[in-house]
Amino acid sequence: MPQLSRPESGLFLILLAASLFGFWRRFDKVWRVIRQSKKDPDFRLQPLGRRTADFIWEVMLQGKVISQRPLPGVAHAWVFWGFCVFALITINHFAEGVGFGFLKRDGIFGPFYFGFAAIFAIAVAVSISGLAFRRYVIRPKWLGPLSKESGIIALLIFLLMGTYLATLVHGWEHSRLLWWAHTLTILVFLPLVPHTKHLHLLLSPATVFFKRDTFSKIPPLAGDEDFGLDTGKDITDLISLQAFTCVECGRCTEHCPAANTGKVLNPKEIALGVRGYLNEFGPASDQPLLGVHLSQEAVFQCTTCGSCEYQCPVGVQHLPMIIGLRRGAVNTGKWEDDYGTKLFLNLERNGNSLGFSANERDKFIEKQEFPIFDGTQEYCLWLGCMGGYDPQGREIIASLARILRGLNITFGVLRKERCTGDPARRLGNDLAFGELAESNLETLRASQVKKIISICPHCVRTISTDWGEYGAAPPIEHHSEFLARHLDRLPERTGAGEKIVYHDPCYLGRYRNVYDEPREVVRKFGSLTEPARSRERSFCCGAGGGLAFLGEEKGKRVSAERAEELVATGASVVAAACPFCNTMFRDALAGVSATPPRLLDIAQIAAASFAPEKTVRE
Ligand code: SF4
Ligand code: SF4
Repeated sequence: MPQLSRPESGLFLILLAASLFGFWRRFDKVWRVIRQSKKDPDFRLQPLGRRTADFIWEVMLQGKVISQRPLPGVAHAWVFWGFCVFALITINHFAEGVGFGFLKRDGIFGPFYFGFAAIFAIAVAVSISGLAFRRYVIRPKWLGPLSKESGIIALLIFLLMGTYLATLVHGWEHSRLLWWAHTLTILVFLPLVPHTKHLHLLLSPATVFFKRDTFSKIPPLAGDEDFGLDTGKDITDLISLQAFTCVECGRCTEHCPAANTGKVLNPKEIALGVRGYLNEFGPASDQPLLGVHLSQEAVFQCTTCGSCEYQCPVGVQHLPMIIGLRRGAVNTGKWEDDYGTKLFLNLERNGNSLGFSANERDKFIEKQEFPIFDGTQEYCLWLGCMGGYDPQGREIIASLARILRGLNITFGVLRKERCTGDPARRLGNDLAFGELAESNLETLRASQVKKIISICPHCVRTISTDWGEYGAAPPIEHHSEFLARHLDRLPERTGAGEKIVYHDPCYLGRYRNVYDEPREVVRKFGSLTEPARSRERSFCCGAGGGLAFLGEEKGKRVSAERAEELVATGASVVAAACPFCNTMFRDALAGVSATPPRLLDIAQIAAASFAPEKTVRE
């Protein structure tokens, strides 16, 4: 490095202080907003092992970023790793400014480290150029409008690397000009970080580490005064941290079924809306959250498919925000929707979401000759609203019953079974959900149920996870898991089998991590083919989050968008594993094709192997 004169060192210190002040002024404000937000009552530091593993994978190794968008992901990873490596170079650079540089250009460690950093400097310069090219020339629409700040930051990072690499050129090691150019670039860069979305550089490690412990978690309300997210006072520190961390990459929007079909909802704008609210009103405000920065219409367009949360590379968890906002609107009477009111009344009066009298379920049970669970059978067969009342859902239940009988596995159904409360829970009606959960738990306890099997991933999720607030439910499994376990006991297929495209239901895939089991069933009876988006990136059918009951959608129907992908595979059968997907695709497939593929649940596919006759029809 060059020998700086005393005035030069003095100037450097003044500029450094100004830069740090600019940095701290904004960072302190953000940090205070996060600290002043209500403590998240549901937060637990445990499990530390899982948190550490996520931190290593998602932050240190940049695994999530790379696996989701490999090329830009690797470029981003190089920039991140470069920043880590350059931390020591930068500290040394500043120390040199006051004559205390500790990395020497002779000896062993100094030259090694300067050379090591040079490799990263080249990689970072190439990567940041590539990322800038993508943002400003390719311009993926999910990134949103062009932003000047991203361009300035990219240029500064490029200059940082360039001015570093230039000092390694023989004869330029002591260039005063290069030293100052490198210094000034850092000093301009530093205060820009907390003022821009690059704040994620500082916050995302904490956000990833402290994020909620389960996917799409709906935290319990903390007492009678907690109505969900109604005003700024209800925003917790975890939500504030996540809102300020959003890097505006648009991954959540890219995969959102609502945003992809012309709805108002854009999950990125949910995170940014909370941030905008906090910036304008702060965490102690009584101002309603739904209004200027966040739209009620958008919040109630969410299918709770979880794609956004699954994709986010910096630990933003959209669903606790979205469901929290719904809770705030429903529990304070601010959500007025005829369909919603009807649904809640159906749940309250009839105990099912479809509004039928319970007698209809009794008649179905009688017709199918289902035994009533009396504590002696192995499984309690959970019918759910769809299996108990919907004609197509009943066919799936009948098929599963035929398989159970064919395998000599005993089962019984509950004499009285009410909706699990899934649509009430996802729409933010905690009162209705709680009543349904409690009464069902009581019934299961009284009936001494030990194991439950269900055809509905929504029932499985709600019983296994959401009911936890009200007591422990018996273990429940989805019929795809059951069928996969009994695969070798199912009859072999005859012939080549049809070409079958399998649609991953959101609540079975992303929510339960069950991807292979239904595919194993399909493979046993046909030739499996995959749609354009599958497994973790499967595209929603549009029914979740209570939306199946909220009437016509705005824009294109989500089910139609998905049906087009399924039809495009050329399969003769669409295999579903959720009665809600089944009901959504029933019309959608016919709407997108004059000769639509047949729509079957995997239980129907497997049941067909047991007997020559068709499955029981209502
Ligand atoms: S859960 Fe699904 S529908 Fe809701 S905002 Fe996220 S991606 Fe969109
Ligand atoms: S919420 Fe996450 S995925 Fe969505 S834009 Fe922000 S950082 Fe990207």
